[in-house]
Amino acid sequence: MIGIVIVSHSAKLAEGVVELARNMGGAELAIQAAGGLTTDDTTLGTDPILILNAIEHVYSEDGVIVLMDLGSAILSSEMALELLPEEKRSKIFLCEAPIVEGAIAAAVQARIGGSIQQVINEARGALMPKSTHLNIGVPEISQTQAASASHENHLSIQLTVKNTLGLHARPAARFVQAAGKFPQETILVSNLTTKKESVNAKSINNVITLGVRQGHQIEVTASGPNARAALDAIKILAENNFGDQEESAIAESVPSTAVISTSGEVSSLTGIAASGGIALGPAFLYRLAPTEIPEHHIENAEQEWEKLLESIAKTREEIETDRKSATNRTYHNTAAIFEAHLMFLEDEALLSPTREKVFKEKQNAALAWQTSVEKISAGFRNLEDAYLQARGKDVEDVGRQVLLHLLGINHAKFVMDIPGILIAADLTPAETSHFEPATVLGICTAFGGPTSHSAILARELGIPAVVGLGDKILALQNGQHIILDGENGKVFIDPAPEIINQYSIKADTLRQAKNKARLERAAPAVTRDGRTVEIAANIGSVAGAQVAVESGAEGVGLFRTEFLFLNRTSAPDEEEQYQTYRATAKALGGRPLIIRTLDAGGDKSIPYLNLEPEANPFLGWRAIRLCLTQPELFKTQLRAILRVAAEFPVKVMFPMIATLDELRRAKFLLAEAREELIARNEAYAEKLETGIMVEIPSVTQMADLFACEVDFFSIGTNDLTQYTFAADRTNPKVASLADACHPAVLRQIHHVVDAARANNIWVGVCGELAGNPDAIPILLGLGVSELSMSSPSIPGTKEIIRSWTVADAEKLASAALESESAESVRKLVKSTAPLNTNILD
Ligand code: PEP
Ligand code: MG
Repeated sequence: MIGIVIVSHSAKLAEGVVELARNMGGAELAIQAAGGLTTDDTTLGTDPILILNAIEHVYSEDGVIVLMDLGSAILSSEMALELLPEEKRSKIFLCEAPIVEGAIAAAVQARIGGSIQQVINEARGALMPKSTHLNIGVPEISQTQAASASHENHLSIQLTVKNTLGLHARPAARFVQAAGKFPQETILVSNLTTKKESVNAKSINNVITLGVRQGHQIEVTASGPNARAALDAIKILAENNFGDQEESAIAESVPSTAVISTSGEVSSLTGIAASGGIALGPAFLYRLAPTEIPEHHIENAEQEWEKLLESIAKTREEIETDRKSATNRTYHNTAAIFEAHLMFLEDEALLSPTREKVFKEKQNAALAWQTSVEKISAGFRNLEDAYLQARGKDVEDVGRQVLLHLLGINHAKFVMDIPGILIAADLTPAETSHFEPATVLGICTAFGGPTSHSAILARELGIPAVVGLGDKILALQNGQHIILDGENGKVFIDPAPEIINQYSIKADTLRQAKNKARLERAAPAVTRDGRTVEIAANIGSVAGAQVAVESGAEGVGLFRTEFLFLNRTSAPDEEEQYQTYRATAKALGGRPLIIRTLDAGGDKSIPYLNLEPEANPFLGWRAIRLCLTQPELFKTQLRAILRVAAEFPVKVMFPMIATLDELRRAKFLLAEAREELIARNEAYAEKLETGIMVEIPSVTQMADLFACEVDFFSIGTNDLTQYTFAADRTNPKVASLADACHPAVLRQIHHVVDAARANNIWVGVCGELAGNPDAIPILLGLGVSELSMSSPSIPGTKEIIRSWTVADAEKLASAALESESAESVRKLVKSTAPLNTNILD
């Protein structure tokens, strides 16, 4: 792979560029920062020796590209080259490309195995996306394969891009990487929606410049021996949103449409589904009182400016309060929305023109401020990108709050006396954050999109919402009857009795179940006949522990520690691991924490562990197999865990155990780690509950013997299913085979629970099956005592457990064990479940 060196006067800048480039090109990238001076990393400057070392570090016979900032960076780089032996020097290329954009483009091209010339060309053309976006003369890029494409023997597919932000930098990088895996193929992509010409799909600059937005259709054409495979890979990537984690609740944008009844009145409207759920009730029109802005001029600019600063300070306090309220009332980190608002208050783009108007033009502060706010928000609204357009509303929101303070208007928080469906032109996040789902049953807006912050907050608050309904919705009268279908983006106006009936039933069941689940998320999951199932969370970080507690987790059943080892150049040392595990345990406030030891390998490659490439990584050198052959790496982690367990309720579990011998060797190393702490006089846990992940059929078969040697089992159904059906869990082609609801998996769980019972140890499930609504009652019936899942599934899972008796669940489980397929198991559950399982959707 081509090496990349980043030379900057600032060490921090160079490191930052490397971080960005890695984000695009991945951990395997050979990239090194050479910023600042060797002797003192806070002094600005460049050092030839540092640059030389960086080049040596990433040196490859294929070539190294050096990107520099300015002035002495170039001289120092030239000097570094002179210090290299002749044969190496010829492989190093100093490149004039812009340092940030160039590094990112080079990283993506290097990652896909491009030649040094291709990497240099990509870096050189890196300003093209920006120039195109800003409509400034577009620099030419050589090597665009568009011209050279043979249109004979090519295959093509058309795809619709669903990502909210379109093919922006990261999904575009993934797209280029997918195309780059096919070096012999010529792959071109065009934007059919904007009719932009085909460009080279292996060039990040070319792909970004296509300006692909959400909903655009693209055509990918490939020719060459593996053209079909290349298109398949790209199709799968597109089906997975190009690797972006989209908020599932965001529906595809649908233009607003109205259905007119025979009487000529609008009977239904279609907008954009922004928050799921159904609401029925009277319309409540919400209009902001217009604010009169004074136009007089002022004498004392200092005094006027002071007034503005005071109003900004008061607004800041309000936003802080809104932020706290949102954090307490929603699951996710919606606080970030308000952080952005706080930033607007300090933004010189707003303050500077206002200052000028007050001091130079002697405008009153309200007029000056409002003019600046309108200018900035209009700037956002004029952008093509829907997400950025929505930010204009945020500026207006903050601007209005400051303005009301300036004018001394007491803006009482909005209250609705009776429950109803709120109708507004658009809403601000601050307004939305105060809505109570008990009175604001649903939200309809004429404008705004699903990515507006008020839509995000509506989802977080569990209020159904349809946005972008157009101004027809504003013509409604207060009290008109409305049905809002937040799943399908529909609004029915004065609907017929049969529609009311149908939706009333749906809405009641869903809303009650969801609200109840949410309100009762902190309470235990106890079946109707009194059995408690422990509901825990799967996490990968300290932040995950905080979210888990907020979601009602009673502990952590699986801490995937490998995340701590990914995306870095060396393993975390004992102290770093100790601090991380300690912080995680602390965040759980006394709740139990099960730490799984390093599960590297498989689909989680860690470059610095120097793992050999394997033909079948999931059947290869992963997890405990790797740890047992790298005892120092393993014991470092075990020491850190033992130290935290001295202070907090921590348990340990080993992943991917296949044989008793492995388990014994792992326990032996645990004992050694303990001895090492004793020798160091360090506090450690005398007794550390030790369990294994049950994820290989050899263990389910021998569960009786394993049960004698561990304190608990945690069934990893993700791996157990892939090994049961010999179906790679990362291969979408065999995804339907690997169905964890299949009796072949359920029977193994049954067998493991029996073996555990006979030996008085407990069994949990921490694979995805644990949070699967169809599987929850079966797992209960099989006698699993702990379910560990991703945090958002927790409230709904608890509610499902509460709706069953153990006796009924046992009957269901027995029938499921006798079923012949996963499909029949699901049908069985649907026909017996006392609760609508949509609660987890
Ligand atoms: C599993 O295999 O079910 C499991 C929980 O572990 P992971 O998904 O991390 O492999
Ligand atoms: Mg696993």
